[in-house]
Amino acid sequence: MEQVTAEKDLGVFIDTELKFRQQAAAAVSKASRILSTIQRSFQLFDKSTLPLLFKTLVRPHLEYGNIVWGPFNRTDQKRVERIQRRATKKVPELRHLPYTERLQALKMPSLYYRRRRGDMIAVYQMLHGGIDLESHDFFDRSTARETRGHSWRLVKPRAVTRVRRNAFSVRVINDWNGLPSEVVDASTLNQFKNRLDTHWANLLFELFAVLVAPVCRLTSPSVPAQVLPQERMFALCDAIVQSGREYSLRQRSPVPLMYAYYDTEYLGAAHGISAILQMLMSVPDYLLTRPDVSRDVKTTLDFLTSLQQANGNYPCAMDELGGRRPEPEELIHWCHGAPGVVYMLAKAYLVFKEEKYLHACLKCGDITWQKGLLRKGPGICHGVAGSGYVFLLLYRLTGDQRHLHRAQQFASAIFTEQFQRHSRQPDCPYSLFEGLAGTVCFLADLMQPEKASFPFFDIFS
Ligand SMILES: [Zn+2]
Repeated sequence: MEQVTAEKDLGVFIDTELKFRQQAAAAVSKASRILSTIQRSFQLFDKSTLPLLFKTLVRPHLEYGNIVWGPFNRTDQKRVERIQRRATKKVPELRHLPYTERLQALKMPSLYYRRRRGDMIAVYQMLHGGIDLESHDFFDRSTARETRGHSWRLVKPRAVTRVRRNAFSVRVINDWNGLPSEVVDASTLNQFKNRLDTHWANLLFELFAVLVAPVCRLTSPSVPAQVLPQERMFALCDAIVQSGREYSLRQRSPVPLMYAYYDTEYLGAAHGISAILQMLMSVPDYLLTRPDVSRDVKTTLDFLTSLQQANGNYPCAMDELGGRRPEPEELIHWCHGAPGVVYMLAKAYLVFKEEKYLHACLKCGDITWQKGLLRKGPGICHGVAGSGYVFLLLYRLTGDQRHLHRAQQFASAIFTEQFQRHSRQPDCPYSLFEGLAGTVCFLADLMQPEKASFPFFDIFS
């Protein structure tokens, strides 16, 4: 009898070590071939054709049998995701945007998200009898009378090896037990899916609100300034630092702290490390009581500061160092680039009092002024008000009237007919970050510039 290292069963290559590398390679290669064929057959892709073609013709090959084979290996995860990265670049108007923003514009989730979501759907169906599998063959229902959590909690089995930790019945437990009752108690599968998506989307915001709002004391006057007691704030920061250290070690990063979002090490304020460092510096007394953290923050900070390009801008992510993005495609917004990193630099200047940070801040201001008005609408994330806030920050930092004048110029441009005719309507026209709500904050702040601050980003308090 012939000895083999992998065997195909129901279309999935199962190998002797249960690592599924061969299966991942086969799925990637098939999906890649189909993507190339589609590309040859169509002249142009837009925001509606591309998702349709990708979801029906390519994605199924990457997702078939995912519950069994993952992928769990980081390299394989990246290779699988890369197919979708490549596909989303086919829409010409989105090509220059980072992956997360391309996905947002196309209303497509990442494949990583889809796998986690698929796992949750499978657990829901097993427990609610939606599929013909006995749930007790896979899980034990928790009988512990705990006050926390929902009534469908599962017991987490011991798992020593990586293969075991990646097995369906183990890897789903934390995610599942972490869901709120209203999600797991959903009465239909569709209701469950909708509630799950909403819950996970809100989680990101909650994390932001829990950390940022107390730090910045930018809560409404009815909420006391100290939202979380100091030890809870410190514990939260410790967790953030530990996760950054572990990731940095694993990835052999050049700095002691590093983070990734959707597999990309972003630097900017919306998804990246600059806002994380800024928050760590903003928690009163945190760095003073943690000399080792203070050292790591400072080292990382100095490295990031040094990444400023000759024109004053900052790259979007670590994989774009060395000017890999051509100048016309450079992003100079609050979410990516100098207009967001400037808040970290300004905070660093206030905390460590070194001139180099102030110098870098001023260069951020100059590039924002030179690049002029963004055509992506009036908002604060990637619009004119977001750029205008840079000047209000510099005005507060230096007292120099020149910056205030620049902010006023940007504000008055918003009201010109030319801007209103040529700028783009944001997806969420009234929202805080993209739409009018943020613009109103900017305009209101112009009336009292000595108290101005980008929403949730007050570095002076
Ligand atoms: Zn943005």
